[in-house]
Amino acid sequence: MNLKNSKFFKRIQELRHFSKEKIRKDREKRTHVVRALDMALNEQPCLDREWFSPEQSPPLQPMSPRRRMKKTRCLKRRAAAGKQVGDNSPYYGPSSGENSPMPADEAKLQGFIQLNNKTYRVECPTRVLNPPMNVDEERPASETKSTICVSNSRYAMIGKISKTLGYKLVKESKMWNILWSDSFPGVELFKNMKRFQQINHFPGMIEICRKDLLSRNLNRMLKIFPQDYKIFPKTWMLPADYGDAMNYALNHKRTFILKPDSGAQGRGIWLTNDLKTIGPHERLICQTYINRPLLIDGYKFDLRVYTLITSVDPLRIFVYNEGLARFATNKYVEPTPGNANDLYMHLTNYSVNKRNSHYELCDNDDCGSKRKLSAINTWMRRHNYDVEEFWSNVDDVIIKTVLSAWPVLKHNYHACFPGHDKIQACFEILGFDILVDWKLKPYILEVNHSPSFHTNEQVDREVKRPLIRDTLNLVSTVLADKRQILKEDRKRVKQRLLKIRGDPPVQRPRLGGGTSKPKIDAQKGGPDAQPVDVEPEAEDHGPLAQQIAWEESHLGNFRKIMPPPDLSKLDYYTRFYAQSNQVSIFAETAASKKREDLARKMRIQIEEKKAKQQQMLNGNAKRDARKRHTVLLPRAVRERNRMNLFRLRENWSPGFISDAEERLRHTWLHMRAEAIRTLKITENIYSNLYETGLLTNTDMVVYPHLYHNLQHGYDIKHVP
Ligand code: ADP
Repeated sequence: MNLKNSKFFKRIQELRHFSKEKIRKDREKRTHVVRALDMALNEQPCLDREWFSPEQSPPLQPMSPRRRMKKTRCLKRRAAAGKQVGDNSPYYGPSSGENSPMPADEAKLQGFIQLNNKTYRVECPTRVLNPPMNVDEERPASETKSTICVSNSRYAMIGKISKTLGYKLVKESKMWNILWSDSFPGVELFKNMKRFQQINHFPGMIEICRKDLLSRNLNRMLKIFPQDYKIFPKTWMLPADYGDAMNYALNHKRTFILKPDSGAQGRGIWLTNDLKTIGPHERLICQTYINRPLLIDGYKFDLRVYTLITSVDPLRIFVYNEGLARFATNKYVEPTPGNANDLYMHLTNYSVNKRNSHYELCDNDDCGSKRKLSAINTWMRRHNYDVEEFWSNVDDVIIKTVLSAWPVLKHNYHACFPGHDKIQACFEILGFDILVDWKLKPYILEVNHSPSFHTNEQVDREVKRPLIRDTLNLVSTVLADKRQILKEDRKRVKQRLLKIRGDPPVQRPRLGGGTSKPKIDAQKGGPDAQPVDVEPEAEDHGPLAQQIAWEESHLGNFRKIMPPPDLSKLDYYTRFYAQSNQVSIFAETAASKKREDLARKMRIQIEEKKAKQQQMLNGNAKRDARKRHTVLLPRAVRERNRMNLFRLRENWSPGFISDAEERLRHTWLHMRAEAIRTLKITENIYSNLYETGLLTNTDMVVYPHLYHNLQHGYDIKHVP
């Protein structure tokens, strides 16, 4: 008999299969739950985790009391042996301080997680898992490992410091958190940035980082606020301001410094007290020379003040307390024709002075051609200068310089980053070059958008390394959760593609959504600014509030200058935001609109006239007279145009003409007159007409001297 065919054998096989299947299903279910629990718990950066069920909902797999005791004992033994408690070995037990395996003094975060319709309490220490080297402060829970791309920077130091701070260096093609570039990136890059990404330049910062644009903005502000904007030497942009500069030179005996409009490192700079040597068509920046600068040990110097901007709307500016003073290398004497060419005396650029054999390298604070700002402060104190007041004046110059470009910065930022709602998309370290005169008044000379981070000397290393480190600590990169944002973005794209209805459209709050308008206005000193008596950020929980809290608690060696801590100062700076109401740099003026309108109408009329003339020239005027109605515009339209033109002429009154435009027109007229005179155009034409016998009586009356000279046989074309 074949046993395999027996009913009994089949039944046994069935039972075996059934029990195997059951065991497999049970195991699957268990692993699924454990994995889900693990995933949920992994959202918290806990080293040790505890969870237990609240009274109404016991945990899925409660541990037996015996096993729990055994595990506790084991953990205690391991802790005593100095071993760390394993990451993945959750401790099941009560969460009270005494029974917990964690040290009682260790602060804990408590929270609840929802899993399979049951609620579990989770506790984890606030201690961070792997604190980045050299950084003793905590990073928020959202941080995984931030990445930085430094491939567009020539300074190896940036990458090295980033690494020590726990950043991972990645290529530009990867999903970096920070892109550090030495040059201004293109608009395309700005536009493609994700909401967790930050870049070290603001679009539009060029407005203060190019000499000509800086002068234009500061001159504009000086015109609107003549008392407040005396923060830079008198400056003219040639050739546009040629006439003005010449006029000033006629009435003032001054030395002028001339610079190429977009030059750097002292290239192409010279001094003169005779502006007539400059051609009327040369593109230059002409500035009055500050001929009595503050001297230390007889040398002229300027200050490189490092300034960090973390936001333009609201404006947030920080100044680094340490910086550099760069010294000229020949002792200073007020400019004379004899020494005006001595660049080692009048220029303080490192790139110029390093070529001088007198350039001094020194490890001591009180000597050397490059010194720290702290050394200058000590020197000032020793000479009884008010250092606090001086730095407050420097801060004022910096704020006003940035404010002069504020409308452009704000406009560009919102145009490029309409959706950046978690953190600011940009931050920027600017190098302000400040010259101080003998009365300790600071003047802004230049703003560098990529200040040099070369560390040739010890003093460079002592200033620039901490600067980079403090900057990377202060920027709020860590507040954006890359994974979460990517997930949200994917979901949004999917929703958009599938055109899912029903769900309300996702509203991206603007950064600072948690801060009410008056508060933001107050912080940025906007037009509606109201004095606030509470620290606005303290009670807010929006992304802007988080950023502010982060920045305030990670200042390092920075000091915040905007918004200023003093409310009266905040009030004072409020007025400069409103510049765009007074002189719009985007909108056309009423006058220019009117002119354009008139020009358009005139153009139409000229075209009509031309068409008419053309027809007449073709000799078809009569024949086509009938046809003309069809060729030209319909009669009604022509009539309307004619009436409009008539009305326009009747009612037209000259609009507002800006001084700058007028000056420019004058300069052009001047240049034209100069060209006619020097090329002897009138004389040439006159002589030709005389020779060909085409001179009219009027010509003889209007230019009697030319006629007289020709009559006496003089060659008027070549007489000097
Ligand atoms: P660059 O960008 O080429 O360095 P700057 O405008 O910074 O040009 O000028 C170079 C140097 O010339 C400054 O460091 C300063 O020493 C000197 N300098 C510039 N402008 C003036 C001025 N108006 N008065 C006195 N010195 C000046």
